[in-house]
Amino acid sequence: MPEVKLSNISKHYDKVIAVDSVNLTVRNGEYVTLLGPSGCGKTTTLRIIAGLTQPTEGEVIIDGKDVTFAPAGNRDIGFVFQHFEIFPFWDVWDNVGYGPKLRGLDEIEIEKRVWEALDTTKLADKVENFPDELNTPELQRVGVARALATGAKLMLFDEALGALDPKVKAIFQHELRKIVKKNKLTAIHVTHDQLEAMAIADRIIVMRKGRIVQIGEPTELYYTPNDIFVANFLGESNFIEGVVSNVTEIGSEIRLRDGSILRTNEKAIKRGKRVVISIRQELLKIYSIERLGALNFIPGKIIGYRFLGDRHSYEVKLDAGETIGVKEFARAPPSFNIEDIVTVRMDTSLAVVFRYPSDGLAPHLSLE
Ligand code: ATP
Repeated sequence: MPEVKLSNISKHYDKVIAVDSVNLTVRNGEYVTLLGPSGCGKTTTLRIIAGLTQPTEGEVIIDGKDVTFAPAGNRDIGFVFQHFEIFPFWDVWDNVGYGPKLRGLDEIEIEKRVWEALDTTKLADKVENFPDELNTPELQRVGVARALATGAKLMLFDEALGALDPKVKAIFQHELRKIVKKNKLTAIHVTHDQLEAMAIADRIIVMRKGRIVQIGEPTELYYTPNDIFVANFLGESNFIEGVVSNVTEIGSEIRLRDGSILRTNEKAIKRGKRVVISIRQELLKIYSIERLGALNFIPGKIIGYRFLGDRHSYEVKLDAGETIGVKEFARAPPSFNIEDIVTVRMDTSLAVVFRYPSDGLAPHLSLE
Protein backbone atom coordinates (compact mmCIF):
# COMPACT_ATOMS: atom_id res chain seq x y z
CA MET A 1 0.00 0.00 0.00
CA PRO A 2 2.17 2.88 -1.18
CA GLU A 3 2.12 6.44 0.02
CA VAL A 4 2.47 9.09 -2.69
CA LYS A 5 4.01 12.46 -1.96
CA LEU A 6 4.26 15.39 -4.35
CA SER A 7 6.62 18.08 -3.20
CA ASN A 8 6.36 21.47 -4.87
CA ILE A 9 5.48 19.99 -8.28
CA SER A 10 5.11 22.33 -11.25
CA LYS A 11 4.77 21.71 -14.95
CA HIS A 12 5.17 24.48 -17.52
CA TYR A 13 4.45 24.21 -21.24
CA ASP A 14 5.78 27.37 -22.90
CA LYS A 15 3.41 30.00 -21.50
CA VAL A 16 0.94 27.55 -19.92
CA ILE A 17 1.40 26.63 -16.26
CA ALA A 18 -0.39 23.27 -16.19
CA VAL A 19 0.55 22.48 -12.58
CA ASP A 20 1.65 25.17 -10.16
CA SER A 21 3.54 24.31 -6.93
CA VAL A 22 1.45 21.34 -5.87
CA ASN A 23 2.14 19.76 -2.49
CA LEU A 24 0.18 16.66 -1.66
CA THR A 25 0.38 13.46 0.35
CA VAL A 26 -1.86 10.53 -0.53
CA ARG A 27 -1.81 8.09 2.36
CA ASN A 28 -1.37 4.33 2.21
CA GLY A 29 -4.65 2.67 1.27
CA GLU A 30 -6.39 5.96 0.61
CA TYR A 31 -8.81 6.55 -2.27
CA VAL A 32 -8.51 10.16 -3.41
CA THR A 33 -10.06 12.01 -6.31
CA LEU A 34 -8.47 14.91 -8.15
CA LEU A 35 -11.46 17.10 -8.99
CA GLY A 36 -11.66 20.29 -10.99
CA PRO A 37 -12.82 21.88 -14.22
CA SER A 38 -11.36 21.04 -17.60
CA GLY A 39 -7.79 22.27 -17.98
CA CYS A 40 -7.09 22.69 -14.24
CA GLY A 41 -4.13 20.30 -14.34
CA LYS A 42 -5.61 17.02 -13.05
CA THR A 43 -4.38 14.79 -15.84
CA THR A 44 -0.95 16.41 -15.89
CA THR A 45 -0.63 15.78 -12.14
CA LEU A 46 -1.64 12.14 -12.62
CA ARG A 47 0.78 11.70 -15.53
CA ILE A 48 3.59 13.14 -13.42
CA ILE A 49 2.85 10.55 -10.71
CA ALA A 50 2.79 7.83 -13.36
CA GLY A 51 6.10 8.96 -14.88
CA LEU A 52 4.50 9.70 -18.24
CA THR A 53 5.21 13.44 -17.93
CA GLN A 54 8.35 14.96 -16.44
CA PRO A 55 7.72 17.83 -13.99
CA THR A 56 9.48 21.15 -14.57
CA GLU A 57 10.12 21.40 -10.83
CA GLY A 58 9.57 19.37 -7.68
CA GLU A 59 9.81 15.80 -6.49
CA VAL A 60 7.62 12.71 -6.70
CA ILE A 61 8.10 10.35 -3.77
CA ILE A 62 6.42 6.93 -3.84
CA ASP A 63 6.79 4.71 -0.80
CA GLY A 64 9.54 6.94 0.53
CA LYS A 65 11.61 6.70 -2.68
CA ASP A 66 12.32 9.65 -4.93
CA VAL A 67 11.04 8.49 -8.35
CA THR A 68 11.01 11.90 -10.04
CA PHE A 69 13.35 10.68 -12.76
CA ALA A 70 12.39 6.99 -12.72
CA PRO A 71 10.82 5.70 -15.95
CA ALA A 72 7.11 4.84 -15.87
CA GLY A 73 7.83 1.12 -16.25
CA ASN A 74 9.81 1.07 -12.99
CA ARG A 75 7.15 2.67 -10.81
CA ASP A 76 4.87 -0.33 -10.26
CA ILE A 77 1.64 1.52 -11.03
CA GLY A 78 -1.65 0.32 -12.58
CA PHE A 79 -3.20 2.87 -14.93
CA VAL A 80 -6.80 2.92 -16.21
CA PHE A 81 -7.82 5.46 -18.83
CA GLN A 82 -11.20 6.64 -20.08
CA HIS A 83 -10.40 5.24 -23.51
CA PHE A 84 -9.69 1.73 -22.50
CA GLU A 85 -6.69 1.16 -24.74
CA ILE A 86 -7.53 -2.52 -24.95
CA PHE A 87 -5.66 -4.42 -27.66
CA PRO A 88 -8.39 -5.04 -30.26
CA PHE A 89 -7.04 -8.32 -31.69
CA TRP A 90 -6.43 -9.98 -28.33
CA ASP A 91 -9.06 -11.74 -26.30
CA VAL A 92 -9.82 -10.78 -22.69
CA TRP A 93 -7.37 -13.31 -21.29
CA ASP A 94 -4.45 -11.98 -23.35
CA ASN A 95 -5.34 -8.35 -22.63
CA VAL A 96 -5.44 -8.96 -18.87
CA GLY A 97 -2.31 -11.13 -18.97
CA TYR A 98 -0.32 -8.48 -20.79
CA GLY A 99 0.95 -6.71 -17.64
CA PRO A 100 2.19 -9.78 -15.76
CA LYS A 101 3.79 -11.15 -18.97
CA LEU A 102 5.59 -7.87 -19.52
CA ARG A 103 6.96 -8.19 -15.99
CA GLY A 104 8.45 -11.56 -16.93
CA LEU A 105 6.44 -13.59 -14.41
CA ASP A 106 6.24 -17.37 -14.83
CA GLU A 107 3.17 -19.03 -16.35
CA ILE A 108 1.72 -20.22 -13.02
CA GLU A 109 1.92 -16.74 -11.46
CA ILE A 110 0.46 -15.14 -14.62
CA GLU A 111 -2.45 -17.59 -14.56
CA LYS A 112 -3.11 -16.92 -10.86
CA ARG A 113 -3.06 -13.14 -11.27
CA VAL A 114 -5.24 -13.13 -14.37
CA TRP A 115 -7.91 -15.34 -12.77
CA GLU A 116 -7.91 -13.23 -9.63
CA ALA A 117 -8.30 -10.03 -11.63
CA LEU A 118 -11.06 -11.57 -13.77
CA ASP A 119 -12.91 -12.83 -10.69
CA THR A 120 -12.68 -9.44 -8.99
CA THR A 121 -14.01 -7.65 -12.05
CA LYS A 122 -16.67 -10.31 -12.77
CA LEU A 123 -15.24 -11.16 -16.17
CA ALA A 124 -14.44 -14.82 -15.63
CA ASP A 125 -17.01 -15.91 -18.23
CA LYS A 126 -15.61 -13.56 -20.87
CA VAL A 127 -12.01 -14.82 -21.10
CA GLU A 128 -12.33 -15.89 -24.71
CA ASN A 129 -14.24 -12.84 -25.91
CA PHE A 130 -12.62 -10.24 -28.11
CA PRO A 131 -13.09 -6.50 -27.44
CA ASP A 132 -15.60 -6.05 -30.27
CA GLU A 133 -17.83 -8.63 -28.56
CA LEU A 134 -17.96 -6.63 -25.31
CA ASN A 135 -20.12 -3.66 -24.29
CA THR A 136 -18.72 -0.43 -22.83
CA PRO A 137 -18.94 -1.40 -19.13
CA GLU A 138 -17.33 -4.78 -19.91
CA LEU A 139 -14.50 -3.07 -21.76
CA GLN A 140 -14.00 -0.83 -18.77
CA ARG A 141 -13.83 -3.90 -16.54
CA VAL A 142 -11.10 -5.30 -18.80
CA GLY A 143 -9.17 -2.04 -18.29
CA VAL A 144 -9.46 -2.40 -14.51
CA ALA A 145 -8.64 -6.13 -14.61
CA ARG A 146 -5.54 -5.41 -16.65
CA ALA A 147 -4.34 -2.85 -14.14
CA LEU A 148 -5.07 -5.19 -11.20
CA ALA A 149 -3.28 -8.13 -12.80
CA THR A 150 -0.02 -6.18 -12.86
CA GLY A 151 -0.03 -6.63 -9.07
CA ALA A 152 0.60 -2.91 -8.59
CA LYS A 153 -0.60 -1.49 -5.27
CA LEU A 154 -0.97 2.04 -6.63
CA MET A 155 -3.82 2.60 -9.10
CA LEU A 156 -4.28 5.72 -11.20
CA PHE A 157 -7.67 6.25 -12.84
CA ASP A 158 -7.98 9.00 -15.46
CA GLU A 159 -11.68 9.73 -16.09
CA ALA A 160 -11.95 5.94 -16.10
CA LEU A 161 -15.75 5.98 -15.79
CA GLY A 162 -16.30 8.89 -18.16
CA ALA A 163 -17.67 6.75 -21.02
CA LEU A 164 -20.32 4.99 -18.93
CA ASP A 165 -23.97 6.02 -18.84
CA PRO A 166 -25.15 7.46 -15.48
CA LYS A 167 -26.81 4.33 -14.02
CA VAL A 168 -23.96 1.99 -14.94
CA LYS A 169 -21.51 4.62 -13.74
CA ALA A 170 -23.11 4.73 -10.29
CA ILE A 171 -22.82 0.93 -9.95
CA PHE A 172 -19.24 0.96 -11.21
CA GLN A 173 -18.20 3.72 -8.79
CA HIS A 174 -19.36 1.53 -5.94
CA GLU A 175 -17.57 -1.55 -7.32
CA LEU A 176 -14.34 0.29 -8.06
CA ARG A 177 -14.16 1.57 -4.51
CA LYS A 178 -14.87 -1.92 -3.16
CA ILE A 179 -12.09 -3.41 -5.32
CA VAL A 180 -9.60 -0.79 -4.16
CA LYS A 181 -10.47 -1.23 -0.49
CA LYS A 182 -10.66 -5.05 -0.57
CA ASN A 183 -7.26 -5.32 -2.28
CA LYS A 184 -5.75 -2.67 0.04
CA LEU A 185 -4.69 -0.49 -2.87
CA THR A 186 -3.94 3.22 -2.95
CA ALA A 187 -5.99 4.96 -5.65
CA ILE A 188 -5.80 8.39 -7.28
CA HIS A 189 -8.79 9.03 -9.50
CA VAL A 190 -9.12 12.02 -11.83
CA THR A 191 -12.61 13.27 -12.55
CA HIS A 192 -14.41 16.50 -13.40
CA ASP A 193 -17.66 15.00 -12.05
CA GLN A 194 -18.32 16.28 -8.53
CA LEU A 195 -20.94 13.62 -7.78
CA GLU A 196 -18.49 10.90 -8.73
CA ALA A 197 -15.78 12.47 -6.58
CA MET A 198 -18.10 12.66 -3.56
CA ALA A 199 -19.43 9.12 -4.03
CA ILE A 200 -16.08 7.42 -4.38
CA ALA A 201 -13.39 9.25 -2.44
CA ASP A 202 -12.02 9.20 1.09
CA ARG A 203 -10.68 12.67 0.33
CA ILE A 204 -11.19 15.05 -2.56
CA ILE A 205 -8.44 17.31 -3.85
CA VAL A 206 -10.05 20.29 -5.58
CA MET A 207 -7.84 21.86 -8.24
CA ARG A 208 -8.16 25.09 -10.16
CA LYS A 209 -5.74 26.69 -12.62
CA GLY A 210 -2.94 24.29 -11.76
CA ARG A 211 -3.25 24.75 -8.00
CA ILE A 212 -4.87 22.87 -5.14
CA VAL A 213 -7.70 24.96 -3.73
CA GLN A 214 -8.88 22.68 -0.91
CA ILE A 215 -8.38 19.10 0.28
CA GLY A 216 -10.86 17.32 2.51
CA GLU A 217 -13.38 14.57 3.03
CA PRO A 218 -16.44 14.96 0.79
CA THR A 219 -18.72 16.13 3.62
CA GLU A 220 -16.07 18.53 4.90
CA LEU A 221 -15.75 20.19 1.49
CA TYR A 222 -19.51 20.22 1.01
CA TYR A 223 -20.41 21.79 4.34
CA THR A 224 -17.32 23.92 5.01
CA PRO A 225 -15.87 25.09 1.70
CA ASN A 226 -13.04 27.53 2.34
CA ASP A 227 -13.49 29.26 -0.97
CA ILE A 228 -16.33 30.56 -3.18
CA PHE A 229 -15.08 28.44 -6.07
CA VAL A 230 -15.31 25.23 -3.99
CA ALA A 231 -18.76 26.20 -2.65
CA ASN A 232 -19.90 26.62 -6.25
CA PHE A 233 -18.17 23.59 -7.76
CA LEU A 234 -19.52 21.04 -5.26
CA GLY A 235 -23.29 20.76 -5.10
CA GLU A 236 -25.68 23.48 -6.21
CA SER A 237 -25.27 26.73 -4.31
CA ASN A 238 -26.82 30.17 -4.47
CA PHE A 239 -24.73 33.26 -3.80
CA ILE A 240 -26.51 36.26 -2.28
CA GLU A 241 -24.88 39.61 -1.60
CA GLY A 242 -25.36 41.60 1.57
CA VAL A 243 -23.81 43.76 4.26
CA VAL A 244 -23.26 42.69 7.88
CA SER A 245 -25.73 44.86 9.81
CA ASN A 246 -25.28 43.44 13.30
CA VAL A 247 -22.92 41.01 15.05
CA THR A 248 -23.86 39.22 18.26
CA GLU A 249 -22.34 36.42 20.33
CA ILE A 250 -24.24 33.78 18.38
CA GLY A 251 -23.91 35.12 14.87
CA SER A 252 -24.61 38.03 12.59
CA GLU A 253 -27.46 39.65 10.73
CA ILE A 254 -26.91 40.34 7.07
CA ARG A 255 -28.94 42.95 5.22
CA LEU A 256 -29.71 42.05 1.61
CA ARG A 257 -30.10 44.65 -1.13
CA ASP A 258 -33.90 44.91 -0.66
CA GLY A 259 -33.50 45.51 3.07
CA SER A 260 -34.52 42.03 4.19
CA ILE A 261 -32.41 40.45 6.89
CA LEU A 262 -30.83 37.00 7.06
CA ARG A 263 -29.62 35.77 10.43
CA THR A 264 -26.50 33.57 10.12
CA ASN A 265 -23.98 31.78 12.37
CA GLU A 266 -21.07 33.84 11.03
CA LYS A 267 -19.29 35.74 13.81
CA ALA A 268 -15.87 36.66 12.45
CA ILE A 269 -16.83 39.29 9.85
CA LYS A 270 -17.27 42.82 11.22
CA ARG A 271 -20.34 45.02 11.00
CA GLY A 272 -20.51 47.11 7.83
CA LYS A 273 -18.52 44.62 5.72
CA ARG A 274 -19.81 43.55 2.34
CA VAL A 275 -20.33 39.77 2.17
CA VAL A 276 -21.68 37.00 0.00
CA ILE A 277 -23.77 34.22 1.51
CA SER A 278 -23.44 30.80 -0.05
CA ILE A 279 -26.53 28.71 0.53
CA ARG A 280 -27.37 25.37 -1.05
CA GLN A 281 -30.54 24.89 -3.05
CA GLU A 282 -31.77 22.06 -0.81
CA LEU A 283 -31.66 24.33 2.27
CA LEU A 284 -34.38 26.56 0.85
CA LYS A 285 -38.14 26.16 0.93
CA ILE A 286 -40.81 28.17 -0.83
CA TYR A 287 -43.87 29.49 1.03
CA SER A 288 -46.78 31.67 0.04
CA ILE A 289 -46.43 35.41 0.68
CA GLU A 290 -48.27 35.26 4.06
CA ARG A 291 -45.05 34.23 5.78
CA LEU A 292 -43.33 37.48 4.85
CA GLY A 293 -41.75 39.23 7.82
CA ALA A 294 -40.82 36.01 9.64
CA LEU A 295 -37.16 35.37 10.38
CA ASN A 296 -35.12 34.39 7.30
CA PHE A 297 -38.10 34.56 4.91
CA ILE A 298 -37.00 36.47 1.80
CA PRO A 299 -39.45 37.77 -0.84
CA GLY A 300 -39.34 36.91 -4.53
CA LYS A 301 -41.22 35.69 -7.60
CA ILE A 302 -41.17 32.26 -9.28
CA ILE A 303 -39.74 32.65 -12.77
CA GLY A 304 -38.87 29.06 -13.72
CA TYR A 305 -39.66 25.44 -12.92
CA ARG A 306 -38.28 22.04 -13.90
CA PHE A 307 -39.44 18.61 -12.74
CA LEU A 308 -36.49 16.38 -11.82
CA GLY A 309 -38.40 13.27 -10.74
CA ASP A 310 -37.54 13.20 -7.06
CA ARG A 311 -37.26 17.02 -6.87
CA HIS A 312 -39.05 20.16 -7.92
CA SER A 313 -36.50 22.67 -9.12
CA TYR A 314 -37.69 26.29 -8.97
CA GLU A 315 -36.03 29.46 -10.16
CA VAL A 316 -36.91 32.44 -7.98
CA LYS A 317 -36.08 36.08 -8.68
CA LEU A 318 -35.51 37.65 -5.26
CA ASP A 319 -36.58 41.25 -4.61
CA ALA A 320 -32.95 41.63 -3.45
CA GLY A 321 -31.84 41.15 -7.06
CA GLU A 322 -30.40 37.63 -7.32
CA THR A 323 -32.03 34.79 -9.21
CA ILE A 324 -31.72 31.69 -7.06
CA GLY A 325 -32.44 27.97 -7.40
CA VAL A 326 -34.61 26.07 -4.91
CA LYS A 327 -34.82 22.29 -4.86
CA GLU A 328 -37.63 20.67 -2.92
CA PHE A 329 -38.38 16.96 -2.48
CA ALA A 330 -41.23 16.09 -4.85
CA ARG A 331 -43.48 14.39 -2.32
CA ALA A 332 -46.50 15.81 -4.17
CA PRO A 333 -47.08 17.68 -7.45
CA PRO A 334 -45.63 21.23 -7.51
CA SER A 335 -47.45 23.78 -5.31
CA PHE A 336 -46.35 26.93 -7.15
CA ASN A 337 -46.67 28.36 -10.64
CA ILE A 338 -44.57 30.70 -12.71
CA GLU A 339 -45.26 34.36 -11.74
CA ASP A 340 -46.37 33.42 -8.20
CA ILE A 341 -45.21 35.93 -5.59
CA VAL A 342 -43.63 33.94 -2.76
CA THR A 343 -41.24 34.05 0.17
CA VAL A 344 -38.25 31.74 0.42
CA ARG A 345 -37.31 30.38 3.81
CA MET A 346 -33.55 30.14 4.08
CA ASP A 347 -32.17 27.65 6.60
CA THR A 348 -28.92 29.47 7.27
CA SER A 349 -27.52 26.98 9.80
CA LEU A 350 -25.40 25.45 7.03
CA ALA A 351 -24.92 28.63 4.98
CA VAL A 352 -21.35 29.87 4.57
CA VAL A 353 -20.59 33.59 4.62
CA PHE A 354 -17.59 34.85 2.62
CA ARG A 355 -16.13 38.34 2.48
CA TYR A 356 -17.13 39.93 -0.82
CA PRO A 357 -14.12 39.48 -3.12
CA SER A 358 -12.29 42.68 -4.03
CA ASP A 359 -12.25 41.62 -7.70
CA GLY A 360 -16.01 40.87 -7.74
CA LEU A 361 -17.90 37.60 -7.63
CA ALA A 362 -17.69 36.57 -11.30
CA PRO A 363 -14.04 35.37 -11.39
CA HIS A 364 -14.71 33.16 -8.35
CA LEU A 365 -17.82 31.60 -9.87
CA SER A 366 -16.18 30.95 -13.23
CA LEU A 367 -15.73 27.23 -13.83
CA GLU A 368 -12.36 27.69 -15.50
P1 ATP B 1 -9.29 17.82 -18.76
O1 ATP B 1 -10.31 17.41 -17.74
O2 ATP B 1 -9.88 18.66 -19.84
O3 ATP B 1 -8.44 16.70 -19.25
P2 ATP B 1 -7.23 18.58 -16.89
O4 ATP B 1 -7.66 19.22 -15.62
O5 ATP B 1 -6.87 17.15 -16.84
O6 ATP B 1 -8.30 18.85 -18.01
P3 ATP B 1 -4.64 18.98 -18.06
O7 ATP B 1 -4.93 18.03 -19.20
O8 ATP B 1 -3.73 18.53 -17.01
O9 ATP B 1 -6.00 19.46 -17.40
O10 ATP B 1 -4.10 20.35 -18.70
C1 ATP B 1 -3.73 21.47 -17.94
C2 ATP B 1 -3.29 22.59 -18.86
O11 ATP B 1 -2.07 22.22 -19.49
C3 ATP B 1 -4.27 22.87 -19.99
O12 ATP B 1 -4.26 24.27 -20.23
C4 ATP B 1 -3.71 22.11 -21.15
O13 ATP B 1 -4.07 22.72 -22.37
C5 ATP B 1 -2.20 22.24 -20.89
N1 ATP B 1 -1.45 21.08 -21.44
C6 ATP B 1 -1.58 19.79 -21.04
N2 ATP B 1 -0.73 19.00 -21.74
C7 ATP B 1 -0.07 19.82 -22.60
C8 ATP B 1 0.96 19.61 -23.59
N3 ATP B 1 1.45 18.40 -23.83
N4 ATP B 1 1.41 20.68 -24.26
C9 ATP B 1 0.93 21.93 -24.00
N5 ATP B 1 -0.02 22.20 -23.09
C10 ATP B 1 -0.52 21.15 -22.40
